[in-house]
Amino acid sequence: MINNERLIERFMRYVKVSSETGNEKEFSELIVEELKDLGLDVKRDHAGEKIGSNTDNIYCLVKGEGNKSRIYSSHMDTVKPGININPVIEDGYIKSSGDTILGGDDKAGISVIMEALTCIIEKNAKHNTIEIIFTISEEGGLNGSKNLDYSIINSKEGYVFDSGGKVGSIINQAPSQKKLRIEITGEAAHAGGEPEKGISSINVGAEAISKMKLLRIDEETTANIGTFRAEGATNIVNPKAFIEAEVRSLSEEKLKKQTDHMIEVLESTAKKYGAKVKIEIDHLYTAYKYSNDDSLIKEIEKTMKYLGINVSKQSSGGGSDANIFYQNGIKTVNLGFGGNHAHTLKENLKIEDFQKLAQITYLLMTE
Ligand SMILES: [Zn+2]
Repeated sequence: MINNERLIERFMRYVKVSSETGNEKEFSELIVEELKDLGLDVKRDHAGEKIGSNTDNIYCLVKGEGNKSRIYSSHMDTVKPGININPVIEDGYIKSSGDTILGGDDKAGISVIMEALTCIIEKNAKHNTIEIIFTISEEGGLNGSKNLDYSIINSKEGYVFDSGGKVGSIINQAPSQKKLRIEITGEAAHAGGEPEKGISSINVGAEAISKMKLLRIDEETTANIGTFRAEGATNIVNPKAFIEAEVRSLSEEKLKKQTDHMIEVLESTAKKYGAKVKIEIDHLYTAYKYSNDDSLIKEIEKTMKYLGINVSKQSSGGGSDANIFYQNGIKTVNLGFGGNHAHTLKENLKIEDFQKLAQITYLLMTE
């Protein structure tokens, strides 16, 4: 059902065209060209200008028979260092030559979608309605999918191929995340002459953090301080400190409870010392959680089992474009693409897994 040789060749070709976040233009033009060569009509939105990327999200509708309609999505951007990638094949794996990432995250996903689609069109195979979305700027904030024009999408269900690890992993739950930016303002004073007249923002921040419940909160919830920054001369009671923190949870209720707890501790500690605290909160993405009986989950499971693939339903610790699609009314599940050590120079892709993923994709599109 899949041309394995062409799949590998395709992947090698894709990763050689660099597309670090914000600079996806050259790669996106290659994909648009290939979709057009398949006789398809390609649309772009205007997401790029809103988020500082040199190109936009790609959308392509391939109308099929029957009522079944799904989105198939992967992101076009990669992390750094992703320029001049030289993929090599060794012992059943594709890896980079060691001085860059590989870019399997997420060009493995793009390759399987493109290959399955090419096979369908070549063979004139019967297929469902396929809506392809290739996003920009997924890394560092899911910004492409956040700024996608959802008015052009009809599907209510879909797949994202963007989870590391074995093919057969189905991410059936992923958390919500909030980010907190905190500014503590105290009062400057000469540290040697009259320190009692000052309010140390550092002391306030440190005391607040020490009172906070952090890291693993419960099996569904985590919280972490990523930044605690204050700089100044030792002879001045420091009046300004910055903290950046995050909270994640599979439960919206627990997410709120933990966020409220951190705010409360910051505010009460600031009050105790007469400092001011300004807190900005961003809701980065919303959790999704699908039950074992969910029709979409059952459908993928059936396809994987048919191909003899071990299915493993997993909870993810992070968000993906699937969370943003879910927020926009499209029940989307993230699937493992067979990659390892993503975002590092050791990144690799297991060829056997990669080929299986292409078969899964073909079956999902045609069954
Ligand atoms: Zn990714």
